[in-house]
Amino acid sequence: MTLRFRLTFWYTVLLAIVLLIFALGFHMVVAQALYNEVDDTIRSQAEQVVAVFEVNIDPMRSRLPTTAIVFASQVFAQATSVEGVVIDTSPSLGEEKLALPDTALQQNLQGEAGFYDWLSGGATMRVYSAPVRSPDGTVVATVQVAQSLDAINSMLQVARLALLIGGGIAVALAALGGAIISGTALRPLNQIADTASRIARAEDLDQRIEGAYPDDEVGQLADTFNEMMERLQDLFNTQQRLVADVSHELRTPLATIQGNVDLLRRGAASDPAMLGEGLEAIGQEVARMSRLVRDLLLLAEADAGVQLTLKPVELDTLLLEVYREALLMANGRVKVRLGHEDQAQVQGDADRLKQLLLNLLSNAIAYTPPDGTVTLSLHCRPDGWVRVTVTDTGIGIAPEDQPQIFDRFWRVDRARTRAAGGSGLGLSIAKSIAEAHGGTIAVDSEPGKGSTFEVLLPQSLTANANVWQG
Ligand code: ADP
Repeated sequence: MTLRFRLTFWYTVLLAIVLLIFALGFHMVVAQALYNEVDDTIRSQAEQVVAVFEVNIDPMRSRLPTTAIVFASQVFAQATSVEGVVIDTSPSLGEEKLALPDTALQQNLQGEAGFYDWLSGGATMRVYSAPVRSPDGTVVATVQVAQSLDAINSMLQVARLALLIGGGIAVALAALGGAIISGTALRPLNQIADTASRIARAEDLDQRIEGAYPDDEVGQLADTFNEMMERLQDLFNTQQRLVADVSHELRTPLATIQGNVDLLRRGAASDPAMLGEGLEAIGQEVARMSRLVRDLLLLAEADAGVQLTLKPVELDTLLLEVYREALLMANGRVKVRLGHEDQAQVQGDADRLKQLLLNLLSNAIAYTPPDGTVTLSLHCRPDGWVRVTVTDTGIGIAPEDQPQIFDRFWRVDRARTRAAGGSGLGLSIAKSIAEAHGGTIAVDSEPGKGSTFEVLLPQSLTANANVWQG
């Protein structure tokens, strides 16, 4: 059953119930008012007749007043003796007589007046019967005044029919209108469902829900759906790029290894010099692939949001450690020196922080020409942040390249950095480590002059900052 049908159905049922309750209430109130009107008329007529009777002492000989009281044409009157014998009838009754049930007569004899209904030849009569008293208070006769309820009943019947037809038409129109409105309101939902199933069938993430939607729940759903598709497409593209990049990165070392293995097979293995060269080349490529796989695993961990183990880390001690490793890395080719060094402690993962600094230092050393300088500094800022900088006097990075350098596999010059052993993952790993510690990383660089990489780490960690994410 469609949502549109259910909405229209329940809406119509609800409206029909409301209309029915309204019609019943209306009918009851109107009928009651009309019946009360009849009761008032016949009672007041009867009271007038009784008053005239009581003035005439001999009721048995009295006649109904014809001149004093003007009966409405549809009003009938009758005088009855205490024995129940009809004494006189109004001209409107003709030969007819009004029935006086025994219970009503007994009630009158006890001095009480009252109403009763009487069915005469298919017509309902409303009768009021009242006692006539002599001056000493004895009931000497009774008077009945009646009016036919036929006019009222047929009026009510017409009203019932009008309410039924009117209500039926209203319900039908409401059902039609409801179906049209809910159809219009739900159309975007159908479009969303269509687009979603088209995407699922064709696996085409480019599709979006087109068209302008009002700013309501459905419009928000369309927007959210489009945003979700945007994000999915981004993720999908990143994933595809990553697979392409990884395959590309692995192809070159594998080709080199394959080439060397072929060479050795073809006889180079018997020449000790060529064997040494071949094995050396294979060894270098295996080391490169190992580094690549290690970096990829690290980023995969970051993507999976692995929790870091946080402990107090003496950053100044860590800085000294990486400084010593950088000296070995530089091997005298460039000058590595320790600049300003404050004492600082942060909450962090020492191994990851060390890796962050080594990534920056190895880049600085790799992209600085011989005799250049790489400086490592640590400042404790009064605002609670620790600032670590790696400054070099190297080739620098063009302003248009600077926003991209933290992206995965992004390199300013592929051939050059490959020769330097870089995979293009170093800075993205550095960035994820800094962010996992609640910190930031930024670059300030001028081509030909050098670069400064700045890492800011908070001395105390904010909540949840330690989730390791790429
Ligand atoms: P790689 O492993 O290739 O060094 P990174 O992610 O560490 O990858 O760096 C990305 C790119 O940023 C590098 O290929 C290089 O072009 C540029 N880069 C990084 N550090 C420096 C630096 N200190 N001086 C100049 N260029 C740099």
